[in-house]
Amino acid sequence: MRGREQLAAFDPGGLEVLEADLAAFEAALQRENHTLKRSLTDPHLFSGIGNAYSDEILHRSGLSPVKLTQKLTAEEVERLYQATRATLVEWVERLRREAKEGFPEKVTAFREDMAVHGRYQLPCPDCGTPVQRIRYAENETNYCPKCQTQGKLLADRSLSRLLRQDWPRTLEELEQRMRRT
Ligand SMILES: [Zn+2]
Repeated sequence: MRGREQLAAFDPGGLEVLEADLAAFEAALQRENHTLKRSLTDPHLFSGIGNAYSDEILHRSGLSPVKLTQKLTAEEVERLYQATRATLVEWVERLRREAKEGFPEKVTAFREDMAVHGRYQLPCPDCGTPVQRIRYAENETNYCPKCQTQGKLLADRSLSRLLRQDWPRTLEELEQRMRRT
């Protein structure tokens, strides 16, 4: 009993998406109005979705990492729910298979078979656009501007500071620059 209480004290209580229905997912997602990236990686809201999986989930659902959770339409919430389940199932199976073959690997690190996570400037597997990033403290978020943000580049604070006005704001601007260089 004591052990269970102690365990409960350490469990942040996030939702297990593979055991949850759409309504429970929606309730957890919209409990607070944060960016999708922040809500998906908050262990108090969702269990077991780290930085890597959240990038993959958002890419699969075609949603911007900085979209606010309470601004999602019902259709977008459902798309995100399905993408979250599909991504988790896919990676659980892949890691299980690799463990059996004797190649266990952590998913927190760069994986070549991910779509966008850890793939800054590499082509998006769906459209070929270079993957972009937003960097902060210890992490970075990777996304495809064509599949997820209607071609808009999200401000990267460290880069913005460095480049000042030179930071391209749209995908078109970036592509023009790439053509020029
Ligand atoms: Zn793409």
